[in-house]
Amino acid sequence: TQLQSHEVRQMFLDFFKEKGHGVEPSRSLVPQEDPTLLWINSGVATLKKYFDGRIIPDNPRIVNAQKSIRTNDIENVGFTARHHTFFEMLGNFSIGDYFKEKAIEWAWEFLTSDDWIGFDAERLSVTVHPEDDEAYHIWKDQVGLPTERIIRIEENFWDIGEGPSGPNTEIFYDRGEAYGNDPKDPELYPGGENERYLEIWNLVFSQFNHNPDDTYTPLPKKNIDTGMGLERIVSVIQDTRTNFETDLFKPIIERTEQLSGVQYHDNERQDTAFKVIADHVRTVAFAIGDGALPSNEGRGYVLRRLLRRAIRFAKDLNLNEPFMYRLVDQVATIMYDFYPEVHNKKDFIQEVVKKEEERFHETLQEGLAILEKVMQAEKAKQSNVFPGEEVFTLYDTYGFPKELTEEYVQAEGFTIDEVGFEREMSKQRERAREARQKVDSMQVQDEVLQQIDVDSQFIGYDQLTTTTTLST
Ligand code: ATP
Ligand code: MG
Ligand code: MG
Ligand code: MG
Repeated sequence: TQLQSHEVRQMFLDFFKEKGHGVEPSRSLVPQEDPTLLWINSGVATLKKYFDGRIIPDNPRIVNAQKSIRTNDIENVGFTARHHTFFEMLGNFSIGDYFKEKAIEWAWEFLTSDDWIGFDAERLSVTVHPEDDEAYHIWKDQVGLPTERIIRIEENFWDIGEGPSGPNTEIFYDRGEAYGNDPKDPELYPGGENERYLEIWNLVFSQFNHNPDDTYTPLPKKNIDTGMGLERIVSVIQDTRTNFETDLFKPIIERTEQLSGVQYHDNERQDTAFKVIADHVRTVAFAIGDGALPSNEGRGYVLRRLLRRAIRFAKDLNLNEPFMYRLVDQVATIMYDFYPEVHNKKDFIQEVVKKEEERFHETLQEGLAILEKVMQAEKAKQSNVFPGEEVFTLYDTYGFPKELTEEYVQAEGFTIDEVGFEREMSKQRERAREARQKVDSMQVQDEVLQQIDVDSQFIGYDQLTTTTTLST
């Protein structure tokens, strides 16, 4: 029988435990000690303290399954098989302990050994950095990978400015000709933008320090940092067309089918809506569970934007009133084994989501009417630029995040006037600054919290009661 997602996650942790790694728990999505980061976006993000040497871990070998949020992929969601805004990264890490050889050897063993995942080795290919002969030879000579499946690409260098950096190697699974077989497609190779060669695992060899003067010097202690997307490897194991048909998403999609009366896999446009909804509700549920709330800035803005984006797509399923909050239940149940937090804070999360949905619905129709009117007027003037002041009004009065307006009007061939929008935004910031000076002693509670009347459950962001048990 097929492995379930929770078994795959556990198998990864067990494999590396067997190789002497200590298991770190999944940490909050809200960075605890890193003001430069909006969300935890990878497994290594919660381990920075070990990588930069601030703290020496008891065990230099670490393994984790870390919930992550990536906002750079929002627009991909629903359109590619493999991108989410919320996903889990499985990672093994070495803090100055083992390096390339072991990292590659173990990744290969985990993926191909019949005691573990047992993928057909023929299906796997890898990319390496052109100058990383060391990695190239490990793949070729130690693993025995044929050279045509070791591809050298320039992009395989991990560098985020000053600090540790280095080459990486990525592992791709060939999903077969059904996923693309156009010999003229220049992108059809591992590392290209295609769905046939699915990137599953990235192994980063941090071996240089990127100095302030942009030179690179070898690090005295070299580190390993890897990340594999759970949803992707599960989709290969469960042989589903996209990540969204795996057991990590299926119950959410089935519930959406019930609520909408629309069948998944009926047509492409509606499938996109199902995927967007399933993805965004996971992100929003987990983020609220970790203490974020919808608002007009920072993390809160991301949540608002995601919820409203999901509501926009939901129209394709004829879902025209609040419904997202009803899916929180499914998220809680699917993830309960490893992440009980969503279940434990379910009532609160549902309340927040429902309130936010209601707020948007109050102004949605009016906002859409304005959108239409403005586009008509511009078309009449032979213009395909949506004016910045209107983007601002939609944002400020009708709660349309700029990116949402942008997605709407792009579908009609419009671009938005960014400069005009920014001008209105800075005028507003100036007004807000003046207003703040007048009421600077007043404590203004978050608008969302003010409206919520959650019974005794809410006692602070990181101290919600955890006494409820799963009743199904
Ligand atoms: P891609 O090229 O597919 O966008 P990436 O190269 O940006 O992925 P990495 O930064 O290398 O991704 O992250 C390590 C691993 O995490 C990837 O190999 C993939 O399995 C997974 N991953 C990355 N981004 C996402 C995402 N948005 N949704 C789901 N899984 C992801
Ligand atoms: Mg990416
Ligand atoms: Mg990639
Ligand atoms: Mg990658």
